[in-house]
Amino acid sequence: MQTHAIRLEAAGDPSVMQLVEIDLPDPAPGEVQLRHTAIGVNFIDTYHRSGLYPVKFPSGLGQEAAGVVEKLGEGVTDFKVGDRVAYPNGPLGSYARQRNMPAARLVPIPDGISDEVAAGSLMRGMTAQYLLKQTFEVKPGMTVLIHAAAGGVGQIACQWAQALGATVIGTAGSEAKCRLARPFCDHVIDYTNEHFAERVHLLTGNQGVPVVYDGVGAATFEGSLASLAPRGLLVSFGNASGPVPPFSPNLLASKGSLYLTRPTLGNYASTRAELLAMAADYFAIVASGRVRVTVNQRYPLADAAQAHRDLEARKTTGSTVLIP
Ligand code: NDP
Repeated sequence: MQTHAIRLEAAGDPSVMQLVEIDLPDPAPGEVQLRHTAIGVNFIDTYHRSGLYPVKFPSGLGQEAAGVVEKLGEGVTDFKVGDRVAYPNGPLGSYARQRNMPAARLVPIPDGISDEVAAGSLMRGMTAQYLLKQTFEVKPGMTVLIHAAAGGVGQIACQWAQALGATVIGTAGSEAKCRLARPFCDHVIDYTNEHFAERVHLLTGNQGVPVVYDGVGAATFEGSLASLAPRGLLVSFGNASGPVPPFSPNLLASKGSLYLTRPTLGNYASTRAELLAMAADYFAIVASGRVRVTVNQRYPLADAAQAHRDLEARKTTGSTVLIP
């Protein structure tokens, strides 16, 4: 059958994303064929498109979507035609109306969670899950610093950290974004006009925080280290402002015997059991109402380039989806 998908022939600016007609074969053994209902747009998609994370061309784009199972490949027993499913980190190619996916990479969408919320937040929510509960265990009474608090991962992580009993200091890049982040942060800092590390020390009685969650990268790296208490952990999980430049490990010594980790979702959800457990934990906190997901941007699939422009220009808040 024929379907439509975004294809890249080369890396570059958003204009390299072209919506084209492609052949879609029947699903192979172990695969299902999905009709997407909503497609997640994540910052990592811009890294694949721009060449920051190299991919093999020609290539599809996007790793996250929700949809309905339309055909089953041989040997698939976990799903049936008509099931609502989502995936947070599939092989590149979610920017498509239909696609084949390995059944082992899919999770069922619980009743009460919309396709749009699943597609717009499963990757971000599972990322918040491992950051707050596995990379570093956030406990009641701790104060944590989370950058880009009005963004996709940021909104979810701040609410979840509060639900775990932490005091949350969030940063955001404008007055309007600070207003948006205020309900799920105890303190919000506009890091475009304030030295955030100094504020963190003021807010913590000059102690610093035990952990910083930093998806911004280059622009915040030094300030994040400066915000930590001695022996604190910098969780550097993204590069929205560009990758952190090379540095000597001595830097960590001079700032107080600090730790640094650069985690990825793929390493935390590497088995089916991990994928299902993390997704279930995330869907449960959303169902409880303690984490509210806002899908604030919707674009037709054909306008994926505009979605990338807006994301990279810091114009978005919360989650973003493409409508197939
Ligand atoms: P966001 O919705 O959070 O968008 C990124 C935000 O980063 C912007 O809204 C902006 O917020 C902030 N930012 C700061 N400086 C810049 C800049 N120069 N250019 C663009 N944005 C900037 O994106 P996502 O929720 O998709 O992802 C957040 C981060 O998490 C990304 O770095 C992403 O790669 C990472 N990530 C990592 C995963 C992992 O497992 N390692 C998995 C999923 C996401 P403001 O204007 O308020 O500063």
